[in-house]
Amino acid sequence: MTHRTDMNMDPASLELAKWRSTPLTPRTRLQIPAQDMPCQDPAVRRANMQEVALGYTPAQAMLEAERCLQCKNAPCIAGCPVRVDIPAFIGKIKEGDFLEAARIIKRTNLLPSICGRVCPQEKQCQEPCTVGKALGGVEKAVQIGRLERFVADYERAQGAVDIPRVPASTGKRVAIVGAGPAGLTCAADVRREGHEVTIFEAFHKVGGVMVYGIPEFRLPKALVAAEAQVLETMGVSFELSFLVGRTRPLLSLLQKDGFDAVFIGTGAGLPKFMDIPGENLVGVFSANEYLTRANLMKAYERGKAGTPIYPSRRVAVLGGGNVAMDAARMALRLGAEEVRVLYRRTRDEMPARAEEVEHAMEEGIIFDFLKSPTRVLGDDTGRVAALEVLSYELGEPDESGRRRPVPIRGSETIIPFDTVIVAIGNESNPLISRTTPELKVDRHGHILVDERQKTSIERVYAGGDIVLGSATVILAMGEGRRAAAAINEILQ
Ligand code: FAD
Ligand code: SF4
Ligand code: SF4
Repeated sequence: MTHRTDMNMDPASLELAKWRSTPLTPRTRLQIPAQDMPCQDPAVRRANMQEVALGYTPAQAMLEAERCLQCKNAPCIAGCPVRVDIPAFIGKIKEGDFLEAARIIKRTNLLPSICGRVCPQEKQCQEPCTVGKALGGVEKAVQIGRLERFVADYERAQGAVDIPRVPASTGKRVAIVGAGPAGLTCAADVRREGHEVTIFEAFHKVGGVMVYGIPEFRLPKALVAAEAQVLETMGVSFELSFLVGRTRPLLSLLQKDGFDAVFIGTGAGLPKFMDIPGENLVGVFSANEYLTRANLMKAYERGKAGTPIYPSRRVAVLGGGNVAMDAARMALRLGAEEVRVLYRRTRDEMPARAEEVEHAMEEGIIFDFLKSPTRVLGDDTGRVAALEVLSYELGEPDESGRRRPVPIRGSETIIPFDTVIVAIGNESNPLISRTTPELKVDRHGHILVDERQKTSIERVYAGGDIVLGSATVILAMGEGRRAAAAINEILQ
């Protein structure tokens, strides 16, 4: 990881000129060094909320683009859930035509500035990249996500963001429930056909987990707000602080309010807990609650916030995914002196993105691998005082292919903490399925859909985390898009 220090020096421009001074062959392209992402200094950023990764310069982007071999079979495309034409957009970056590169991405991905930042690229588009395979590691693949972010940011900085053209109204009306990536994508694609679209959102802000889960230092809220603004300009209406299933039953939207179709994109916002003694003590939070308070209610604006954040000094975060990394790094920024992540397996098995783990380590988060709590211990005021922690060793692989953690008997130790954040996963939001018995769900509460995202109810579609369980932004967008195509077809 490099840290930008001197803005005047541009070694990437020099390097680019050097490589371009001779004809590039596939062999020499493999020798171009992968471009690191410039980042804020860890010692500085651990105390601020600003974005950690600063983005490529134009020269860095063009140099990174030169690494792409323009493979005929383009295995990277198959790795992208929405099939972005990766060699085509990278080819335009090589030519310096960044706006055309953005246009190519947007044919299939409406939110490139967001996906370029948060997609798990190392498991998606970058995983099958020929360059990574030839150089022996996915970390050496062409940095597709960083390039995608670069062109999207460039387009925005130029004020060149295209607003899709909306034809004359068809008079048909579509209700979208939930303003996360699934709902927003579905709304855009339905609106593009001229249908009237209203988005009903339980919170007072648009964006779903992209605003209340993923922190500002990883995904600036202004980017999500700008995407919502594009929808508003296209004529999409928003009904905020509107909880479908409580403010209005789901089927009323079809039967009384005159909507012709409904899309449900309500996400997986119900936190799971460890189910251990002491979890109801003051100072135990779900990562959802902790991050939502910090993100949406601006609890980090100390002294000004309506919901003051819990004053933590020693924080334990339980879990090994992206949510755990976000909660740990947020706790640090909110003033904790020590933050420890407790995870039952080792770093190799962590589901969090490698980059997020690396960033967390650079910032001073401590990782206690092969450890998991058995009890939360309280003081005489009912607040968290410590965790009783059991050590594990790795056994045989389980059904997920990861080696199973096996507890070591008698290894319990007591570690003092004043705050515990539980980040072990989420389940589907149950409100709509509970209040709509006709809607079929599986045993986890995920809404059952067919291959076109249609639910068990006519004219009702669903997609994103409410169908998939906790997934990713791009998968949620892909489902929103598929549902929109089906809705557009029935409204013809
Ligand atoms: P959501 O984003 O959950 O949006 C659902 C919306 O529906 C919410 O706004 C909610 O308020 C609203 N809603 C719920 N019920 C109702 C109702 N009854 N009426 C009206 N509105 C309702 N993914 C990545 O790809 N990369 C990452 O780095 C990443 N990091 C993450 C970090 C955190 C902390 C979390 C929690 C998740 C992360 N994810 C990440 C996962 C990703 O954010 C989700 O998969 C994605 O947001 C799912 O989109 P969605 O539209 O299905 O649901
Ligand atoms: Fe890669 Fe995500 Fe972009 Fe697809 S949308 S190319 S997976 S960064
Ligand atoms: Fe370029 Fe890698 Fe895709 Fe080949 S697989 S076209 S090298 S990004």
